[in-house]
Amino acid sequence: MYYKMKKTDICIVGAGPAGVFAALFLSKFGIESTLVDKAKFPRDKICGDGISGWVLTILNELDKSLLEKLSKQSFINYSYGIRIVAPNYNRLDLPFFDSGDWDPSIPPGFTARRIDFDNFMIEEVRNRKEIKLLENSEITGYERYDNKIRLSVKSGEDIESKIVIFANGATSKFMKEPGGILKTKKYVMSGVKTYYKGVTGFHKDNYVELHFLKNVLPGYFWIFPLAGGLANVGVGLDRYRISKRKLNLKNVMFDAIENVPYLKERFKNAQQITKVETWPLPLWDGKRSISGDNFMLAGDAANLIDPVTGEGMGHAAISGMFAAYQAKRSLEANDFSAEAMKKYDEDVYRKIGKELDISSRIPRFIKHPWLFNAVVNRTTNSNILKEKLALAMTDLEVRKELKRPMLYLKVIMGR
Ligand SMILES: Cc1cc2nc3c(=O)[nH]c(=O)nc-3n(C[C@H](O)[C@H](O)[C@H](O)COP(=O)(O)OP(=O)(O)OC[C@H]3O[C@@H](n4cnc5c(N)ncnc54)[C@H](O)[C@@H]3O)c2cc1C
Repeated sequence: MYYKMKKTDICIVGAGPAGVFAALFLSKFGIESTLVDKAKFPRDKICGDGISGWVLTILNELDKSLLEKLSKQSFINYSYGIRIVAPNYNRLDLPFFDSGDWDPSIPPGFTARRIDFDNFMIEEVRNRKEIKLLENSEITGYERYDNKIRLSVKSGEDIESKIVIFANGATSKFMKEPGGILKTKKYVMSGVKTYYKGVTGFHKDNYVELHFLKNVLPGYFWIFPLAGGLANVGVGLDRYRISKRKLNLKNVMFDAIENVPYLKERFKNAQQITKVETWPLPLWDGKRSISGDNFMLAGDAANLIDPVTGEGMGHAAISGMFAAYQAKRSLEANDFSAEAMKKYDEDVYRKIGKELDISSRIPRFIKHPWLFNAVVNRTTNSNILKEKLALAMTDLEVRKELKRPMLYLKVIMGR
């Protein structure tokens, strides 16, 4: 039987941060690609809306002027730090250290509703002649033959490509096949989130807030301030503990807002303006192969979410960028073998493997409320420790120490 089919060298499945960064880097190299998404933009993505320094760093590497343009959008909120609230409600305010190689008027972190941020990036995609964007096009299957991959499209012509970058997020079926990644409940977090307006009591520099409430440890309740007086509010915890503790995260969220005294006060005039939505976060659970013959996995589909903070956008951007570099190398060498693609895995892990590995060890310490409380109590009284913890947000060597129980003991004992 003869099937009509689109042919391309590089097909990117999914136009979230991972896919868009892959397409934009390829465009920067002058290489054509087809970027396919099942949605029509603007579309929302359930998220905490925290856009970390990694996203800014990769955007800056892609195109400084694009970062500047983004920083001037009215939907962008500048954030200069993080507030950590311990189970005993003591809080620690840690400024982000400016480590970016960009104009100092641009802050170290942003928050923005994903519907706005993702659409801003898609508008940039639409301006690039090298990128063919196909919306409303769900990829439903794949088949590998003759050193190519054929993708089935739900309503439209199939696509045949020499390289496929699977960047279609947390629920990607390509994670399992051909990716070979199987997840257990311990390493999938569930997140619920909604938008409020009128929440009060934010830090004057719009710190993002993680509240480590006792019943959700090592997960947390968050409040991220957004432009226009909005706030992204939610709770995240791994599915293993959700089942074990028989929790309903939506109830946990409302219970915190209504019954935790300092939250009740801050929400007393606030209005919930959207329904509560939920989405999974595939947490990093160790180094795995994230590529194979003719394909790479990127972003959530490659399981690159930080297991402590739940951040995934930055790692999605990084993997998208390295996938573009690999696609360029493979095309130049006409080599699409799994062996060649391994360089992609190496690049990604060289950049963020250590950071992810260190983060993966932290939950076993922060799950103890007494230890968490003691650390926060001590740290609030010590400027040196505050500085050390703030640095840990950006400095790997310092973060490494945070996984060592001795550091916590030293903090508690006041050394
Ligand atoms: C509740 C919650 C809070 C979070 N908070 C934060 C945060 O504050 N900061 C942070 O950095 N990270 C956060 N994350 C993680 C972050 O949202 C993800 O890591 C990030 O969106 C991953 O980007 P991605 O490009 O891999 O996938 P996505 O952003 O999920 O994009 C995937 C794209 O693929 C498309 N798609 C899906 N299936 C198909 C298909 N079959 N065919 C074609 N297209 C398809 C989708 O429409 C979508 O556009 C949070 C996640 C959740 C669930």
